[in-house]
Amino acid sequence: MDIQNIERDIVGFLQELIRTPGIAGDLSAVADVVGRRMRSLGFDEVWQDEVGNVIGKRRGSLPGPRLVFDAHMDTVEVGERDAWVHDPFGGEYSQGKIWGRGAADDKGSLAAFTVALARLPREAIRGEVYAVGTVGEELIEGAALETVLDEIHPDGVIIGEPTDCRLGIGHKGRARLVFSIHGKAAHSSSPEVGDNAIDKAVEVIRRVRQIPSVEDPLLGKSVMEPIQLFSSPYPSASTVPYACEVVFDRRMVRGETRQTVLALHESVLQGMDGSTVHIPEVSVPCYTGKKISRQDFHPAWSVDPDSEWVRLALEGLKSAGIPPITYGTPFCTNCSGSAGERGLPTLVFGPGSVHLAHVTDEYAEVSELLHAVRGYMGLAQALGQLKV
Ligand SMILES: [Zn+2]
Repeated sequence: MDIQNIERDIVGFLQELIRTPGIAGDLSAVADVVGRRMRSLGFDEVWQDEVGNVIGKRRGSLPGPRLVFDAHMDTVEVGERDAWVHDPFGGEYSQGKIWGRGAADDKGSLAAFTVALARLPREAIRGEVYAVGTVGEELIEGAALETVLDEIHPDGVIIGEPTDCRLGIGHKGRARLVFSIHGKAAHSSSPEVGDNAIDKAVEVIRRVRQIPSVEDPLLGKSVMEPIQLFSSPYPSASTVPYACEVVFDRRMVRGETRQTVLALHESVLQGMDGSTVHIPEVSVPCYTGKKISRQDFHPAWSVDPDSEWVRLALEGLKSAGIPPITYGTPFCTNCSGSAGERGLPTLVFGPGSVHLAHVTDEYAEVSELLHAVRGYMGLAQALGQLKV
């Protein structure tokens, strides 16, 4: 491995990515950076699809599977700007780290596997490898990736997300549940005439908290946490609210479906006529003018640790000098689309810790990025032996 050139490639690419902000739907500039880099690194074909994902393809010298390596191009907001010591869009390189929004989540992974796949000699590639930068992941996991899967029909998917270079073989799913609670307005000097929707919302939260979690031997316990509360009218002057909406974030384990999750929570609305619970639709505008929409439900998944898919991946990591550690990843990613919805062989692997994601002074360690490049090269070579 030509470490010096790889280091130069990856540092330059990640700095450029960080200096090109990409939040929510506005990703055309980041997509241009990714496409340009893929071309200059020598991918055989590079294109953008209808929702704006960027795809780079390399053909191997021998027959084999089609492997997709994916990371998202969007980031969360900067948050409290004044709290940053390092410019969030500066891409500063100091103390062995590259600083800025997206360094850990998820631009570091994107830069690492793009460079890794570009630097693999053609003789080391079987089948086809694809480096993909997807849109819209921070808002709806898995949705934009599915347009890539429809086009490429891969045999396996490796999602780049910060796993400290461990091999994620499953993760919890995520869903948003909205309780719409019905009450009756009244003047707040005579609340007995109305039916205060805030009181009922508090009761809903109390009942939800009494529902036991679902246990999973790999992924741990399901989690159900209220994250937003709205009352109507708002603002209010001396009015007992006639409605309340309580939004919960659910972290699901394997086996939970839209139906089971809704059925589990409909019971808390007993005795509250006119109140409902549902999983909302989310829609994300893409810079291409298209929209990606889907229900805000992203299932849990896992792959069989004894499968050929996982065995080959661990061999690949070992041969690259990476400790072959598997684990259940604690956060939800695009894997919910490839593995959770479609059952495709999927893994998560990437540089850095998830504790560096979405924080002030986010960074990526250059040594860890180089470690990940070795890991991605090992994975691409070993998984190329997958029987298809
Ligand atoms: Zn991410």
